[in-house]
Amino acid sequence: MKNLSYIIFDEETKEGAIIDPGFEADKILKTVKDHNLKIKYILLTHTHIDHIAELIAVQQKLDTQTLLSKEEIDSEVYGSPIDESDILNIGEQEIQVIETPGHTLGGLSFLYNNQYLFTGDTLFCKGIIGRSDLYGGNADELKRSIAKLMKLPEEIFICPGHNYEGKKSTIKNEKEYHTSNIKNKFLEFLSKE
Ligand SMILES: [Zn+2]
Repeated sequence: MKNLSYIIFDEETKEGAIIDPGFEADKILKTVKDHNLKIKYILLTHTHIDHIAELIAVQQKLDTQTLLSKEEIDSEVYGSPIDESDILNIGEQEIQVIETPGHTLGGLSFLYNNQYLFTGDTLFCKGIIGRSDLYGGNADELKRSIAKLMKLPEEIFICPGHNYEGKKSTIKNEKEYHTSNIKNKFLEFLSKE
């Protein structure tokens, strides 16, 4: 199982954002440098250690702002709060903040240009959803968050935080799993842990 970090950027202005700098800060920073990017934001879907392990290493090297849910800001994680009322921009591109609690108290998803949805550990591919039995987790909240994401346009690509069952899907694909199997898959996933 791999952790997935993402870098998105506006080709015109080279303004970009890093989503969940979990590991391999060197690789992230090299990519930023190779593409000559100006990283405006580091966006955190949540603050489990495998999503922020190299946050400080990246923060130290880049002049950028870290944004996350206010529920997850603490002495260990330095950043500014965002919620659904915030629309972020990198260059001409738009990032919508979607609150998706349930895996953690302040879980966020990010919708880039109404095209790519970064779901952290809320939603993975092939019907897999995140755990809700860790600190701050809540199974009902998680189900509500998944239902909320399933209402987004079907052609949106899902970019999850781990590649349990692949690393790219669409709302349309996942909707098929979730309308028929959400309860079963959810229980199955919990019992695997
Ligand atoms: Zn997590």
